[in-house]
Amino acid sequence: MKDYPRYLTPKFEPFDPLDLCEKTMSIVGRGSSRKYTDFYKVGVYGGIATGYLVGCCLRCPFCWVDWSRDYPEKHGQFYSPQQVFNRLINIARRKRVGRLRISGGEPTLNREHLLQLLDLTDPLGYLFILETNGILLGHDRSYAEALSKYENLYIRVSIKAGDAWGFERRTGALGDFFNLPFKAVGYLLELGTDMRVACMSDPRVMPSKERKEMIRQLERIGYYDYLEEEDCSPYPTAVARMRYAGYDLF
Ligand code: SF4
Repeated sequence: MKDYPRYLTPKFEPFDPLDLCEKTMSIVGRGSSRKYTDFYKVGVYGGIATGYLVGCCLRCPFCWVDWSRDYPEKHGQFYSPQQVFNRLINIARRKRVGRLRISGGEPTLNREHLLQLLDLTDPLGYLFILETNGILLGHDRSYAEALSKYENLYIRVSIKAGDAWGFERRTGALGDFFNLPFKAVGYLLELGTDMRVACMSDPRVMPSKERKEMIRQLERIGYYDYLEEEDCSPYPTAVARMRYAGYDLF
C-alpha cells in the first residue's frame, strides 16, 4: 500500500486514474462483491435509499466522502449484489421512497457488481440513480452500452475540470486523461441514455476561462441540456482535504 495515492498535497505525483481503478478494485472488489460501510435513506432526489460504498479512482480535494476514499483497506465489508439489493429495497419499502443509488465512492469500479445489481433492481421499476465521475465509461464504450439497456436508470456524470491542467490539479490524475468524462457524456448521448451532466464549477476552484472551455467542450459533443453546477461545501473531510492540498477556502 506504500504507493497507493491518498489525499492530495502540494507535492503530489499525478497518477494514472485507470491504474488507480485497478489498484482500488483489488482492495474494494472481490468477484462480484464490493465493499460498503452503510445503508440508509437520505433526503436528496426527494428521498433515496443509499448504499455507501468504498473506493474511488480520483482524489478531488473538495470531495465530501469520508476517509474510506483514502484508506479503503481500513473500511467497509463486502456485499454481493443480492445483499445490496436486499438492503436497498428494504429501506425503500420501509421509508416509502422510489429511488435507489450507491454512492460515497465511484460506483462503476466493479462492473460485474453494478450490472448484477441493476439486473435485480431494474425490473421492479425503482429509479436507480448512478452518480459517476465518467472515467471508466469514457475509457470503455461497451460499459456505457451495457448501462444503456436498463429502463429505470438515470446517470449523472460529474465533470471535474474543463482542461488538462485543471483536471490534474483538482483530481490528482494525469491531465492526459481529462477527456474521459467528456467521452462518457458523448457515448451516453449517442446511446440515448437518460442522463445529466453536473460539474464542480465553483469559481473558487475553477477559473471562469476554464468553465467556458468546459461548456464549449460539452457543446462540441452535443450536450446542451441543463448543467448542474456545484459549489464546494464545508464538509469536514472536504475542509481537511482542501487544506492538505493547499487551498485556503474555508
Ligand atoms: S468527488 Fe467523486 S470523483 Fe472526486 S474523489 Fe470524491 S467520490 Fe471520487
